[in-house]
Amino acid sequence: MNYISTRGGMAAQQFTDILLGGLAPDGGLVVPDRYPHIDHATLTAWRELSYPALAFEIVSRFATDVPTDEVRRLVHAAYTKDVFGTDDITPLTELEPGLHLLHLSNGPTLAFKDIAMQLLGHLFEYVLAKRNETINIVGATSGDTGSAAEYAMRSKRGVNVFMLSPHGRMSPFQRAQMFSLPDANIHNLAAEGTFDDCQDIVKAINNDAAFKARYKIGAVNSINWGRVVAQVVYYFRAYLKVATAIGEPVDFVVPSGNFGNICAGHIARQMGLPVGKLVVATNENDVLDEFFRTGLYRVRTSANTHATSSPSMDISKASNLERFVFDLIGRDGAELARLWHEVDNTGGFDLSKTPYFTRMVGEFGFSSGKSTHTDRIATIRSAKQDWNVIVDPHTADGIKVALEARRPGVPMVTLETALPAKFESTIVEALGEKPPRPAELADLESRPQRSTVVPNDADAVKAIISTTLG
Ligand SMILES: *Cc1c(COP(=O)(O)O)cnc(C)c1O
Repeated sequence: MNYISTRGGMAAQQFTDILLGGLAPDGGLVVPDRYPHIDHATLTAWRELSYPALAFEIVSRFATDVPTDEVRRLVHAAYTKDVFGTDDITPLTELEPGLHLLHLSNGPTLAFKDIAMQLLGHLFEYVLAKRNETINIVGATSGDTGSAAEYAMRSKRGVNVFMLSPHGRMSPFQRAQMFSLPDANIHNLAAEGTFDDCQDIVKAINNDAAFKARYKIGAVNSINWGRVVAQVVYYFRAYLKVATAIGEPVDFVVPSGNFGNICAGHIARQMGLPVGKLVVATNENDVLDEFFRTGLYRVRTSANTHATSSPSMDISKASNLERFVFDLIGRDGAELARLWHEVDNTGGFDLSKTPYFTRMVGEFGFSSGKSTHTDRIATIRSAKQDWNVIVDPHTADGIKVALEARRPGVPMVTLETALPAKFESTIVEALGEKPPRPAELADLESRPQRSTVVPNDADAVKAIISTTLG
């Protein structure tokens, strides 16, 4: 399988060529030149597969330049009961007839990002060893993504992680999660600034081409193609468990920010999985809800990006949306590049008066909904009352939208994106009680922590990275 750029300006490459990179050289996102097609007979045969066996079938169709025995070894190393708590990896529960919750948060950092990141850690280690290379991942986090990356990359050969976080601004739980990692290749840098400052430092480091090349600086952000592929697996898994018969539709609701998770659902649908509707659930930061309702994509300024009680969806623009729009407009790289230049120049684009707008809903099955703090609190309460489950604020946004979007006779799956233990204060606000915490994390905050406080200054951070790497 060949990989190309959404903006048409990259020579075809293989999976292992693009895995470690970020944006394509022309500023676009990397996508396969076609999607593998899975027919109903194959789907039927996949019904009995274990999670890692299903992951092998799907990942091997995208990672075509990795020997199949290696893919098998890597998926089996990533998806274990030891790491995810169950052999099922992504168990499903039925909240009430026809309404399902897909549990994606049983990994080490209690959020769905672990599912993709854990595989990515193994894939990175394999590709780096094969190429005799090393990588130094530099990232910024407000809590979630950074910890998932650290738990995936800890003790992996050839990888160092330098993770910037806003000093004193993470929750005690998030801080302990990251800072208690003892691994020598994990470096926590607490910057004296905000999350935006941390992101600016990462940008400045990446803009210094000489530093970047000398110290082999890389990233594992949400546009990484390997992450998207790993996420495709659980849509298949959920479909195979929930569908009344192969070919019957199943709808999905996905709490969304950067459009990463639901982009994988779109790809599963393009591969022939009989997904009915793909419903995007946003919080008050409703860039995506606006896009799917009106056809208008309008990025927000950081001043217009609200800090909400589902903070992992507080985004101003949706990085992965470009992959969907590429398919929507018939994979026309020049047109795609034009639309994204419009984003850069005018802050957005408008598809409302184009045929694409009706296709988003019709041919591509998308719709959307929005949830606010009041909805979130009400949903956490009603989920406890009606089903005796405690859901996290992001999952609550999904359930709120799922209840509105549900169709008679069509199973509806809401993707759980985190465990409530990560967002204690909102759960206490809704329920007056603390959420349960996995037993193995009972003592988390009392474990020894390691971090380095760094000034809000890119040159100072560069100096620390170069000293550390020697
Ligand atoms: C990252 C994250 C999201 C948003 O996922 P996207 O792939 O960016 O749309 C939602 N909920 C939680 C808990 C997350 O960590």
